[in-house]
Amino acid sequence: MAQDKKVALITGANRGIGLETAKQLGEQGITVLVGARNLSVAEGTAASLKSSGIDAYGVQLDVTNEADRKAAAAFIAEKFGKLDILINNAGVSSPEGFTSVISQVRDEELQRVFSTNLFAVVALTRELLPLLRKSPAGRIVNLSSILGSNTLHADPKSPIADFKSFAYDASKTALNAYTIHLAWELKDTPIKVNAAHPGWVKTEMGTDAAPMEIPDGAKTSVALATIGADGPSGRFIHLGSELPW
Ligand code: NAP
Repeated sequence: MAQDKKVALITGANRGIGLETAKQLGEQGITVLVGARNLSVAEGTAASLKSSGIDAYGVQLDVTNEADRKAAAAFIAEKFGKLDILINNAGVSSPEGFTSVISQVRDEELQRVFSTNLFAVVALTRELLPLLRKSPAGRIVNLSSILGSNTLHADPKSPIADFKSFAYDASKTALNAYTIHLAWELKDTPIKVNAAHPGWVKTEMGTDAAPMEIPDGAKTSVALATIGADGPSGRFIHLGSELPW
């Protein structure tokens, strides 16, 4: 039988924004499933959340690995019978950075970045949708980025106009498209699907040059994970404000 308490799976929850999102959701009394590529890392992270009173479980989940995705879904089905919140947080940046020559982008870079930031999100969501449908109020949050906004990239006066990292940006633009399409498919269900821009956050990916601290960087994900029935679906949000696609 499904448990009453809400259950959330956060991918890439062993560090950065994902870990903080798990912590903040856990502090709201939500059971958090900490996804990490390595089982001992996932269990270690869950143990440290548990030591501060959070109901946490470690789940081995390399999002690009089909066997891991299936095992995670089987574990959630057997242990909880439903999933209320899926945070597709795991992501990778382009190793070549923001100043790489766009016309020289390599196939391997596109494949590597799209594999994690788009294909794995689509595959994991497909695997978990039957469990989200069992929730009275399923929520899917896709960690996008302002760098996925075509509208802002096309405006030479926008603050991101000179920050062009094609593989990463295009993977997040495609993730935004998936968000819009899935929200449309699910529009007659209680499930809400939104894209979150966390801000430019001081993590390994964001670097120390970022202006936002990690606790603030998790706020958009947490808010979208816990929106009520009257909240948005199919939107691109940063700290409560809509971003242009
Ligand atoms: P981060 O500190 O680099 O953490 C990335 C997380 O994703 C790590 O836990 C990493 O696990 C995990 N990950 C990567 N590939 C994975 C895979 N195949 N399977 C499972 N986990 C995987 O990044 P972050 O800044 O917290 O970013 C979180 C999300 O926010 C990303 O989607 C990112 O694109 C987005 N975002 C971040 C910023 C920013 O300024 N930081 C801005 C906009 C959007 P390992 O430890 O095993 O590598």
